[in-house]
Amino acid sequence: MAFRLGTKNDRAVLIANDGIYDLEKHGGGKFSSDPMEALGRHTELHAVASGLPASPDEKLDEGSLGICVPRPKKIFGIGLNYRAHAEESKMEIPPNPLVFAKFVNCLAAGNADVIVFGPTTDYEAELVVVMGAYARDIPEAEAWDHIAGLTCGQDVSERGTQFASKPPHFDLGKSYDTFGPIGPAVVSVDSFEDPANLALTCDLNGDRVQDTRTNDLIFDVPKLVSYISGICTLEPGDLIFTGTPSGVGFMTGTFLKPGDVLTTTIEGIGSITNHCVAKEGA
Ligand code: ZN
Repeated sequence: MAFRLGTKNDRAVLIANDGIYDLEKHGGGKFSSDPMEALGRHTELHAVASGLPASPDEKLDEGSLGICVPRPKKIFGIGLNYRAHAEESKMEIPPNPLVFAKFVNCLAAGNADVIVFGPTTDYEAELVVVMGAYARDIPEAEAWDHIAGLTCGQDVSERGTQFASKPPHFDLGKSYDTFGPIGPAVVSVDSFEDPANLALTCDLNGDRVQDTRTNDLIFDVPKLVSYISGICTLEPGDLIFTGTPSGVGFMTGTFLKPGDVLTTTIEGIGSITNHCVAKEGA
């Protein structure tokens, strides 16, 4: 049975029946409260999910959920991974995945505030892959077996920082605190009829600014897992932000400002909503 794994007060919770269930309490003595441990044992979560009682511990309030993957060892981002976005950026379609790092300090809960750190802070709605196993040199055909689930993310990016030097350097401009909200939960791969073809949208203050399907990725999820695992050993909880479609503010000059509301939605996963706030003292 499919599962949705989140956190509340840094404890792993399963989400079902419009409520939450503490994993340690419902895990039959086999699980601690640690969400990172649960991700490494995601194959056992299906049985726990199917054995949950009808009535949850408490009603689901998505605003109270924490970061669904709070302590990954590594976070990768992929640049220019949708054809239309590569074209709007007037950049060549890369011959291999363009991989950069986001540092873990950038992670935030699905509905956390995003701090606008500069005048060119931009949104990037993305499908985020959550690894569920150690993975080294994984062939594409086996990639999905190493994935715990999928979630929604925003690869928030300060363009000025990204292009501050030559050649451009993505890592720091995408790693300001709060620049990586993810959530609301890790949704297991078997939840989706086709995990490789999901509608993905981004709304800024109610206007649809990004709209795609994930089957339009240039380098799809199996290719990314295979490519990265050929270089770095992937570990349970490692995240891959798979790239953003066209429609980012960089192209129109519509950058984020305090007061903006950003909603990222992926079919079968749900939505995260982030309010943009000013940097303290700004
Ligand atoms: Zn991105």
